[in-house]
Amino acid sequence: MKIVSSYDVVIVGAGPAGATAAKFLSEKGVKVLLLDKNRFPRDKPCGGVLSVKTLKRFSYISEELISSYSFGGRIYSSSQNHHIEVQLEKPIAAFVVRKDFDHGLVQLAVKSGTSFRDGVSATDIQILKEKAIVRLDNGDSVESELVIGADGVWSMIAKKSGLGQHYPYVGRCLYEEIPYAQNVLDEHFTKKRTFQMYLKFRGVYGFGWVAPKKDCVNVGIGEIQSTGSQRTKHSLQELYHEYLHFLKEHKLIPTIISPGKTQGGFLPLHPLDKTFADRILLCGDAAGQMNPLTGDGIHYAMSAGKFAADTCAMAIESSKTNASFLSKYQTLWKNDFGEEMKLCGRVLKMLLKGNRDEKYIRLLSRDQQIVDLLLTMATEGRIQEYQWKIIRRFVSLYVRDFFGL
Ligand SMILES: Cc1cc2nc3c(=O)[nH]c(=O)nc-3n(C[C@H](O)[C@H](O)[C@H](O)COP(=O)(O)OP(=O)(O)OC[C@H]3O[C@@H](n4cnc5c(N)ncnc54)[C@H](O)[C@@H]3O)c2cc1C
Repeated sequence: MKIVSSYDVVIVGAGPAGATAAKFLSEKGVKVLLLDKNRFPRDKPCGGVLSVKTLKRFSYISEELISSYSFGGRIYSSSQNHHIEVQLEKPIAAFVVRKDFDHGLVQLAVKSGTSFRDGVSATDIQILKEKAIVRLDNGDSVESELVIGADGVWSMIAKKSGLGQHYPYVGRCLYEEIPYAQNVLDEHFTKKRTFQMYLKFRGVYGFGWVAPKKDCVNVGIGEIQSTGSQRTKHSLQELYHEYLHFLKEHKLIPTIISPGKTQGGFLPLHPLDKTFADRILLCGDAAGQMNPLTGDGIHYAMSAGKFAADTCAMAIESSKTNASFLSKYQTLWKNDFGEEMKLCGRVLKMLLKGNRDEKYIRLLSRDQQIVDLLLTMATEGRIQEYQWKIIRRFVSLYVRDFFGL
């Protein structure tokens, strides 16, 4: 084993979680190595929808990293007979192209002092009393005080450290980024670029989306599985083509499209019980930090990256790198978005069970105020403030509907 260099922190994976952790650590003067198995700029399966709360929290995300903004959203029930809609004067979300966005975040980390190595895969991790060692596929090894596993849904660091793995608790998606001339999209979607979501398309437990960006439309469909045994037999490929055909037939996307490349991707559905161990922290998809209702993973990945950076900097300063000290990290992210994840998971289950989505979307479509409250909660994340207002209003809607009022 050849140890080639040593760092304070080695971060495996340069997606939004890893790049954010690297940026904040480097700004604090910590010596960081960020590594990724892919050559950057690299693509990542994603809808590329970024919530407004992410832009507020990470105000250094510049306009150059954003493709376009969406000023509205529409959610359809599975029969498409009912829908709820919001149209605002200000953006409800930003759309990004992941290849450019992730590369931009890495560049910011490098500017802050991070050493970045791409095209090199971490294959193993060893935790010793005095240091951590990460082995690379080129035969080299790097040592550090701490390791951040930001290596995505199939995290090697999570698996090898015994913190767990997500299989079979993953959702699977197929999507395509269809290129169009900007004027075609301006005409079809207007500058408002309304986002569309289709619950339980053809009854499949999950949802489809349409995200119209500046010069492409990201179209995808995801199936949310909660256990291996509940897997459905249909082919996701067939479902995707049926969905695309439906969108074209109903002119929900411009009908003339050039054949694109369909890609697959996976989403974690639950956070791991433990996201820290001696000398190790996990963040982003590696930790299962994902909003199962909205598919919003970038916000949690970046937020967790920031919390991991804060915790690592404290650990290094106080020379405390054991699990007990690093548990602060889990407290930080749980206090910030743990409740939100749980609540959104419950709402998703409630919406997708049986054909409840028909009833709930029909009810919600009658009360714009509750829809606006839901949107504010989703985009601003102030869950404690909004959840009881929403529950009270929903119960009153439900009761009024029950008595035919
Ligand atoms: C189809 C689809 C649509 C989605 N749509 C949205 C959306 O619209 N909005 C949203 O917010 N989220 C969306 N998500 C979720 C979002 O993509 C993820 O939550 C987010 O990318 C997590 O960031 P991350 O940094 O944790 O991991 P990733 O972005 O997955 O980055 C992990 C990195 O680790 C690297 N890596 C892995 N293993 C190793 C190794 N052994 N050695 C070195 N490097 C390694 C990978 O190359 C990768 O670059 C979507 C996901 C999918 C699959």
